[in-house]
Amino acid sequence: MFDLPELPFAKDSLAPWTSAETFDFHHGKHHAGYVNKLNAAVLGSDLEDRSLEEVIRGSRDKTPKVFNLAAQHFNHSFFWSCLSSEAQSPEGELATAIDRDFGSFDEFKNQFTDIAVAHFGSGWAWLVRGADGTLIVKGYHDADTPAFTDETPLLTLDVWEHAYYIDHRNDRGAFIAGFWEHVNWKFVATQ
Ligand code: MN
Repeated sequence: MFDLPELPFAKDSLAPWTSAETFDFHHGKHHAGYVNKLNAAVLGSDLEDRSLEEVIRGSRDKTPKVFNLAAQHFNHSFFWSCLSSEAQSPEGELATAIDRDFGSFDEFKNQFTDIAVAHFGSGWAWLVRGADGTLIVKGYHDADTPAFTDETPLLTLDVWEHAYYIDHRNDRGAFIAGFWEHVNWKFVATQ
């Protein structure tokens, strides 16, 4: 059985960027729905009582219904951990790696923002560490996830409409612009 994790911050502490009402829906309805449907989907299957890693690895390219639910559980849990009520900046080795692979922090932000803004339809913008150690930004469609691949997930932003529609309506750009004031770089640095 998978459980819905608690938000690692007070649900009203990221307003006005993302309101408590959005978290009531995004965490309390959408994420909870993925968890409940995932538990129902694996019940009685050979993926019952497996870890999330085993379920994601075991369903990828084989059982899309299970994979989508498991991947969304991972993606949302990771996304909550990427958020902070306090503005932070990357430090130490992470800051060095960003400068090394993107040229500067501003250039990284521009590339990540471009991918998030331009992403067509539902999905996720990710910063990942590739197998060779290089940091890269890329978009993933729908529920797709870098989790348990040869890439290491570092930072993500949910660009499904349900992430921003209550607070920003159709203005995904405003949602992305405010994201930079709420990134938990201390979490990203531990990945
Ligand atoms: Mn979402």
